[in-house]
Amino acid sequence: MHFAFVSGNPALDLAGTVVSRRDEPIDLLAAPADLERWVAECDELPERATADFATFESALSLREAIYRLALDRVLDRPFDPGSLEIVNDTAARPVPTIELSDAGLHVSGDLRAVLSQIARSGIAVLADPHACLKECGRRGCTRIYLDRSRGARRAWCGMDECGNRVKAAAYRARRRASTTAGRRGPGCAQG
Ligand SMILES: [Zn+2]
Repeated sequence: MHFAFVSGNPALDLAGTVVSRRDEPIDLLAAPADLERWVAECDELPERATADFATFESALSLREAIYRLALDRVLDRPFDPGSLEIVNDTAARPVPTIELSDAGLHVSGDLRAVLSQIARSGIAVLADPHACLKECGRRGCTRIYLDRSRGARRAWCGMDECGNRVKAAAYRARRRASTTAGRRGPGCAQG
C-alpha cells in the first residue's frame, strides 16, 4: 500500500498511516524502514532521516497520541492528558533546520527533530479554533483531515483514496437496485 498525504497536515498524515482503525486496522508503518520511506515522501520533512528502533517506537507513540487528540477534537471532547503530554514533550525538542537557496527550500535534521516538527504541526492545527477537522465520510476509512474547502463541504479525505470509491459503490448500488426493480416488474410494492 502507498502512503497518502491528503490530510492537509503532516501530523494528521502520520496518524493516517493506520488505516481503517475501527474495523480491521492496517498499520502501514510495520518497521523502521517504512517510517524512513514515509518521512522521505512527506513534502515538509527532510529527504532522509534514519530510524533506529527506539526512535521508531517514539514515532508510533507520537502517532497514536496525535490520532487520539485529533479524534478528541472531532468529537468535541476534552483532550486526553496522556496524549497531550507525549505531543507537548516531543514538540519541546529541537526541530530540523531549514535553508533557502536558488534550488528552493532544503530541510535537514535527524528523526528526533522530524518528530518534533510533526508534533508542532499537530499542535498548530489542534489549537486552531478555525481549523475544521473531520473524519473521512467513507465507512471504515477513519482518516482525520483538515477541511480547507469553501464552506467546509469536503466529505472525503481524498478523491483517489475514498471519494471515487464511494461514488463507484453508490453507482453500483443504484444499478443493482434498478436491476432488482426490473426483475420484480412494474407495480411491485417496494421494501
Ligand atoms: Zn478516506
